[in-house]
Amino acid sequence: MNGQHIQIADRQFIPFLSEKEIQEKIASLAEAIDVHYKGKELVLLAVLNGSFLFCSDLVRQMQCDASISFIRVKSYFKTQSSGRVDEVLGIHEDLKDKHVLVVEDIVDTGTTIDKLLKIIQLHQPASVEVCSLLFKKDAFLGTAEMPKFIGFSIPNLFVVGYGLDYMEKGRKLKEIYQIVDSVKGQ
Ligand code: 5GP
Ligand code: MG
Repeated sequence: MNGQHIQIADRQFIPFLSEKEIQEKIASLAEAIDVHYKGKELVLLAVLNGSFLFCSDLVRQMQCDASISFIRVKSYFKTQSSGRVDEVLGIHEDLKDKHVLVVEDIVDTGTTIDKLLKIIQLHQPASVEVCSLLFKKDAFLGTAEMPKFIGFSIPNLFVVGYGLDYMEKGRKLKEIYQIVDSVKGQ
């Protein structure tokens, strides 16, 4: 077996994005965000659980001293998007007239972000944009706007690591791996 394969639960994964590629991309995202929000009051709204590592690396590479808040949703089962957003654990901060940047690990069909943006709009922010490390362009249904800040546009395959899990495992990996023989619909 190839030494670079890793096993998580019942599936095998191979390297997809290295730690260096991820960190370099985050540095350029941080720079673009700093430029875009210069002089504005910015709130980073990190979507748990998947974006916890991304958000922490992103905010530490940014110059701007944004405030950070968290929201939790659940919409994904095993390796296929469920098309539903099941839980939303609330926004407790005052977002009124603030510039909100939603920080996501991955946008797949866009269902989660679509639902989230509607919820955030109810808080009357000055603006809302999305920053997603990964974007599955071929899976995106287009019900929400495309994220303004995108790290990597990736093909429609299941990935794990750097915050993203497979059956709640693999989140701590510094790299991102893709599933071997990505079987959709299980
Ligand atoms: P969407 O609602 O855009 O279809 O899916 C969004 C959520 O599904 C993401 O926030 C993430 O939690 C999960 N997701 C989508 N694609 C993947 C993937 O390739 N790997 C993992 N681990 N989670 C994914
Ligand atoms: Mg997510």
